[in-house]
Amino acid sequence: MSEKFHGWAAKQQGAKLEEYEFDPGEIRPEQVQIKIESCGICHSDLSVIDNEWGNARYPFVPGHEVIGTIEKIGDQAKGLSTGDRVGLGWFSGSCLHCHPCLSGRQQLCPDSESTIIGRNGGFADRIRGNWEWVFKLPDALDPLKAGPLFCGGATVFSPIADFGIKPTDRVGVIGIGGLGHLAIQFLNAWGCEVTAFTSSDSKTEEAKKLGAHHVVNSTKSSEIEKIAGSLDFILNTANVPLDWDAFINALGPDGRLHFVGAVLEPIPVQAFSLIMGRKSISGSPLASPATVSDMLDFCARHQIAAVTETFAMDDVNAALDHLRAGKARHRVVLKN
Ligand code: NAP
Ligand code: ZN
Repeated sequence: MSEKFHGWAAKQQGAKLEEYEFDPGEIRPEQVQIKIESCGICHSDLSVIDNEWGNARYPFVPGHEVIGTIEKIGDQAKGLSTGDRVGLGWFSGSCLHCHPCLSGRQQLCPDSESTIIGRNGGFADRIRGNWEWVFKLPDALDPLKAGPLFCGGATVFSPIADFGIKPTDRVGVIGIGGLGHLAIQFLNAWGCEVTAFTSSDSKTEEAKKLGAHHVVNSTKSSEIEKIAGSLDFILNTANVPLDWDAFINALGPDGRLHFVGAVLEPIPVQAFSLIMGRKSISGSPLASPATVSDMLDFCARHQIAAVTETFAMDDVNAALDHLRAGKARHRVVLKN
């Protein structure tokens, strides 16, 4: 029997979202169907609406920080039941038989399904995803603030866990937006001394409240030079070109500059600025399902939550404009 999902779709590059009904087809055996309560807005939604990465397929419903309740379940979906309150993020499927999947790195699966690429995401009343990417929400977490954990949170938690960041480390976070404001909270609770790099002077006090011990202007090279050699790890969440040499220079021996922000311009780097201090530059997508579960536990234990602004789902275009204008503090969430 055919059913209809209702959402808000971009019908062409850069377009305002329009109301959109679609038939999701039969539920696959490994999928669950979620009745959506809320969905965060990630900068990646804007990038796909604008086709900045060249992989958008229109029309599509954006949204990949979903919270809702399972209302239907495929007969091979494991570990979940109807009525469970769950979250779903950027990935909604992986093959589960390639080497990355079998070694617990499902976020690196070459055949993964992305929630908003070639399918419809969470600015809608319903969504489906494979069981391995659908997570039960711990009772301790506020559902209206939890959506941003499933993309933004997972993305910044994973490098902290995967690269063995130590409580004694001095770390930096560039860009205090949706991802960055969660990274500051994670790294503070991890025990690190945290420097926030922001281009917005108005965020200085907010960054300190979130757990930053120091705040430095991310666009003033002379300010970054003053902390040369002092950091073990810098996590970049901004998506614009910055003075990368100055940030590499801010790292001490064995330091790492890690990119999760989708900077489109090439990152120029001199081999010798890495060689002499044995420094690294790296990047990563999202997090494995096991790491997402660890992050949820960590948030519950340390009372970490996104700082959110709530808009009605019907106001999605105003909410997207708010994020585009750089006004979000710090993650916009759409509520059904
Ligand atoms: P966001 O909320 O818009 O935050 C980005 C922050 O970057 C801004 O708040 C701003 O922080 C800083 N910024 C923006 N323009 C700048 C400029 N001209 N100069 C200096 N700083 C600037 O975005 P988000 O949702 O956190 O996403 C951040 C990036 O991560 C995006 O590129 C997104 O696509 C990407 N992303 C990647 C993954 C992954 O798996 N790797 C997952 C999710 C998102 P200040 O005001 O503090 O300077
Ligand atoms: Zn995202």
